[in-house]
Amino acid sequence: MATTYDVIIIGSGPAGYTAALYAARANLSVLMFRGLESGGQLMLTSDVENYPGFEEAILGPDLMEHMEKQARRFGTEMRDEEIIRIDTSERPFKLYPDGRDEPALARSIIISTGASARWLGLPSETQLRGRGVSACATCDGFFFKGKDLAVIGGGDTALEEALFLTRYASHVTLIHRRDSLRASKIMQERALKHPKISILWDTAVDEVLGEQAVDGLRLRNLKTGEESTLPVQGVFIAIGHQPNTTLFQGQLDMDAQGYLIQHEHTMTNVPGIFAAGDVTDHRYRQAVTAAGDGCRAAIDAERWLEAQGEVDKARVADPGVWGEPANLPR
Ligand code: NAP
Repeated sequence: MATTYDVIIIGSGPAGYTAALYAARANLSVLMFRGLESGGQLMLTSDVENYPGFEEAILGPDLMEHMEKQARRFGTEMRDEEIIRIDTSERPFKLYPDGRDEPALARSIIISTGASARWLGLPSETQLRGRGVSACATCDGFFFKGKDLAVIGGGDTALEEALFLTRYASHVTLIHRRDSLRASKIMQERALKHPKISILWDTAVDEVLGEQAVDGLRLRNLKTGEESTLPVQGVFIAIGHQPNTTLFQGQLDMDAQGYLIQHEHTMTNVPGIFAAGDVTDHRYRQAVTAAGDGCRAAIDAERWLEAQGEVDKARVADPGVWGEPANLPR
């Protein structure tokens, strides 16, 4: 008979790995579905300077490798498979990995599927994706040595991408739809004083130009309506993210943008199903807040399971962490 895991975690970013670490250390049986691209958004990041504990910057993929190894050390089982359907109508919950008929069974689920980069939605953008249109400077910047590039957006990601691309590009034009940046002050200072970066304010991209590869952008000034063309060989879209929640539509409560709603602590509207990290957070969206949320979800799951009387073998692994039994709804 198939194993029923105490906790199944979907998603392998900072929230997922931290949830796995805490759940496994609480002696629960933990299975993580890491998806086809494990590690989450930090796999697409270069230097991470704001994750506590690393005095010098650490590379995003290196940080994720540390998290993975730490979660494995305490017995988390991991599968590089994608869950394509879940059935939350009865317990144990059923999770169907792509290409398998047999579901994985879970007493509780922690969802940490994160968020993905958003695109402008232009047909020309889709057509030229991978041929000069990218959403990941760290992945693709290397291919644009000595080229003129554009970055779209005005948040921290856009500025980070622009600064990173100056390593390769001859020039980077940041294109932003308003006349002030959303990014943090420190990133603004770095970008604004960089000799290779210039900013086009109040500007929208109407079309990505080029047949086989990007050779320019058709732009429109949103205040004057004036149209122009900017010759560039690459364009990096950095306009934010959308939560990866399609799988849960119709089963779990979401807000208008599709982020999962935590009703009681980290628990969703379905008792026994918890959400953690960027999949439920459009405000903070930091690696450290996602990790903290993963910790909360694991503690909530353990306490909920205990309250259900379903975890005979669960014991208090670290009284300093677990404290008093929770008063969570059943
Ligand atoms: P964000 O802060 O939501 O910024 C998205 C940017 O894209 C905004 O400037 C927005 O314009 C623009 N935008 C959105 N939709 C657009 C569209 N359809 N067309 C043109 N422009 C559009 O997203 P983010 O930069 O990815 O950052 C997300 C979170 O991660 C933030 O909390 C950020 O601080 C954090 N982060 C931190 C770091 C770091 O500390 N090193 C690095 C990366 C990200 P408006 O400003 O007009 O809305």
